[in-house]
Amino acid sequence: MSLPDTARVVIIGGGVVGVSTLYHLALAGWTDCVLLEKNELTAGSTWHAAGNCPSFSGSWAVMNMQRYSLALYRGLAEKVDYPMNYNVTGSVRLAHSAERMREFERVAGMGRHQGMDLKICTPSELQEYHPFMETHDLAGGLWDPMDGDMDPSQLTQALAKGARALGAEIARFTPATGVSRDNGEWVVHTEKGDIRCDVVVNAAGYYAPRVGDWFVPFGGRPVPATVMSHQYFLTEAIPEIEAWTKAQGHKLPILRDVDSSYYLRQDVSALNLGPYERNCKAHWLTDDDPMPDDFSFQLYPDDLDRLEWYIEDAMARVPLLGSQGVARNINGPIPYAPDGHPMIGPMPGVPNAFEAHSFTFGIAQGGGAGKVMAEWITEGQTEWDMWACDPRRFTDYTDPAFCRDKAMEVYGHEYAMHFPHHAWPAARDRKLSPVHDRIVTLGGQMGSYNGWERANWFAKDGDDTSESATQTWTRKGPWQQRIKEECEAVRDGVGVLDLPGFSRFELSGPGAAEYLRGKIAGALPKIGRMGLAYFPNDRGRVLTEMSVLRHGEDQFTLITAASAQWHDFDVLNRDLPDALMLEDCTRDVTTLIVCGPASRDLFDQIAEADLTLGWLTHQQAKVAGRSAMLVRASFAGELGWEVHASFEDMPAIFEAVMSAGATPFGMFALNALRIEKGYRAWKGDLSTDYTLVEAGLERFIKFDKRQDFPGKAALEAEAQTGPSKRFVTLIVDAGDCDAPYMSNIWHEDQIVGETTSGEWGYRVGASIALGMVQADLAVPGIALEVEIFGTRYNATVQPHQPLWDPENTRLKA
Ligand SMILES: Cc1cc2nc3c(=O)[nH]c(=O)nc-3n(C[C@H](O)[C@H](O)[C@H](O)COP(=O)(O)OP(=O)(O)OC[C@H]3O[C@@H](n4cnc5c(N)ncnc54)[C@H](O)[C@@H]3O)c2cc1C
Repeated sequence: MSLPDTARVVIIGGGVVGVSTLYHLALAGWTDCVLLEKNELTAGSTWHAAGNCPSFSGSWAVMNMQRYSLALYRGLAEKVDYPMNYNVTGSVRLAHSAERMREFERVAGMGRHQGMDLKICTPSELQEYHPFMETHDLAGGLWDPMDGDMDPSQLTQALAKGARALGAEIARFTPATGVSRDNGEWVVHTEKGDIRCDVVVNAAGYYAPRVGDWFVPFGGRPVPATVMSHQYFLTEAIPEIEAWTKAQGHKLPILRDVDSSYYLRQDVSALNLGPYERNCKAHWLTDDDPMPDDFSFQLYPDDLDRLEWYIEDAMARVPLLGSQGVARNINGPIPYAPDGHPMIGPMPGVPNAFEAHSFTFGIAQGGGAGKVMAEWITEGQTEWDMWACDPRRFTDYTDPAFCRDKAMEVYGHEYAMHFPHHAWPAARDRKLSPVHDRIVTLGGQMGSYNGWERANWFAKDGDDTSESATQTWTRKGPWQQRIKEECEAVRDGVGVLDLPGFSRFELSGPGAAEYLRGKIAGALPKIGRMGLAYFPNDRGRVLTEMSVLRHGEDQFTLITAASAQWHDFDVLNRDLPDALMLEDCTRDVTTLIVCGPASRDLFDQIAEADLTLGWLTHQQAKVAGRSAMLVRASFAGELGWEVHASFEDMPAIFEAVMSAGATPFGMFALNALRIEKGYRAWKGDLSTDYTLVEAGLERFIKFDKRQDFPGKAALEAEAQTGPSKRFVTLIVDAGDCDAPYMSNIWHEDQIVGETTSGEWGYRVGASIALGMVQADLAVPGIALEVEIFGTRYNATVQPHQPLWDPENTRLKA
């Protein structure tokens, strides 16, 4: 086949993910697309994958992707007329503890909301599904009827056949060798010639960092991924399993002993054991272990010693495993992003370039990933909010050591529970506040926010600050009393939160105001004031929220969440007119939140500023003799100011604030305080899963302004007909756990919505959930139920105003 000179999209990489992207582009009518594969399709990680396809995930977005994949795979063979071995065997997932059972209950609840029938089981029910398993030490388990295994090569070939049939092209044995830009187009170089195209996709699997480096001259960054070695082995055939399968007419379900960290699956009549071992191994990082230029269809040498503990544990669980020897071991490369989730979406900093790589479960996720990728490319937005997999979630702190340490941590804890008060310890202290050491001395228990270290809570002498104390889903723990005290200090006196890493952009130039008005739904603040601005996408869904501080007609500071840094820069930078200046100043300025009824008295002692200026104003001032910008706003919902100052000046300011009597508080307290005010958090309560109207943000939409803005027509239509869902605040009669993200909301045995965040409110003394419910039920006083870890608790819809200080009198005092 000769290579075309031009294409709309060029995909680099013919593993399951690249091919699925091609297939979904073709389904969307984008058939003028070419996939380049340097060897044969599947030559990377795909050919040797075990092919397990679970629907289980603790992430709503990843579950969406896997659910879609599985549904696609069930019909794919017939749809594209390509036979595939897809065994839907179901799986049993084992729990060794009550906390693990709670995790299963939560995921089963999310699954129910997505239309899946994940079932909680007793140990004896588990044994009915899998009679060869010991269950005496189990707390219970989970049955996933849709789990199964499939031949990854057949899957890839089926997707390829579907894509080709629709007109897309696949060029095998055609390595891409580089990219360049010409006249706003990409030119992808190959050994067989160049292809000009509008859009490039890096789907190069564990070679994604190599391909990613080509984009660095065009604004890109080194791809933050590490290659781990992952093994599974197959036993010789086991006669008992063969006999059982014959008698039952089906295979055993996959067994996942997640607390011991392995899966065990039937393969024909043998068993396949795949551990995720703590003593894991990263590859291709050092000079004595260089990444080869080509590793197609190759494996690492066997390293079964590493798996010894897991093999023994699995033999105790399923004694039949020890009845036969090892027939074959597979030890292959698998790419890990620093949090173990794949990268799917816009390539940070590079126009018209996307990436879909670093998949640890690419067979299970490939179908959904192709759909998501095709939506990003063809529509610029996705059906489901995909922030969990967005490449822009990692920013400038992900050097190779960070990536290695996180990959090792994530791999060794592949099946770990992610508890709400736990902070993962590897690769920390990447970005520090100028008062970091002081915060730690004060007892700060630190968490990482886009690499910035912030105190989550402050421990006192004798508090249990061990990692093991955090292994709980409940709000009870050594932090609880401290969070309460911190919230009370803010309520009754004055608190200080050291908040480095607020994302901060300076926008200026003729027409800056006009440009912003065309991006946001609402109005801009007047000069000297600040306001909240919401950026919708074309569907009117909430892309992001920023605080806009206006210094002049066309001069603005935009402040947003730490984690949103690259995402929001992208939002502002896209179509930026040449006349405007946009600068990311996140590393130049740091912030303190100083709030509480005594905060004015505090600043009276230490600041030269006009403390009579009202709510939502800002001013240049002196604090402790240092220059600072004071912003009269408070996410905590009390009288207060944000202090923005340089890194050099902040230590003196912090000491002055402390000496004047402020109590330090942490992020956990801030979360509790903000939820009592109904303030939404980005990528929980505010996401592209919901429109501005659904999110109850109509007061931030100005339909009658002159400028058009993204999603205006969609929002106007929705405002006319009324939304189908509505944002609500609920008081929940909860037990010892508050509602996690995406807990089901019930009304008379129907799921009518989901929570978007939940927390205990220490000022109002209640468990609060924010969420979305069917619009006709978003009525104050209506009784609903919130399902928290499998138990339904009574909940009441609250009036559409903050629970704490509904008139904002404290805030405006
Ligand atoms: C031992 C093992 C078992 C696994 N088991 C499972 C499992 O049970 N279930 C599951 O879901 N996942 C499993 N995985 C993970 C799974 O294999 C991967 O997530 C998946 O294959 C990733 O697919 P991909 O398309 O992203 O990457 P790859 O399959 O690696 O494809 C990338 C392709 O890009 C090509 N390429 C690279 N550079 C270039 C270039 N310059 N030009 C052109 N082409 C290029 C490569 O040749 C390769 O074919 C397992 C992995 C391992 C190692």
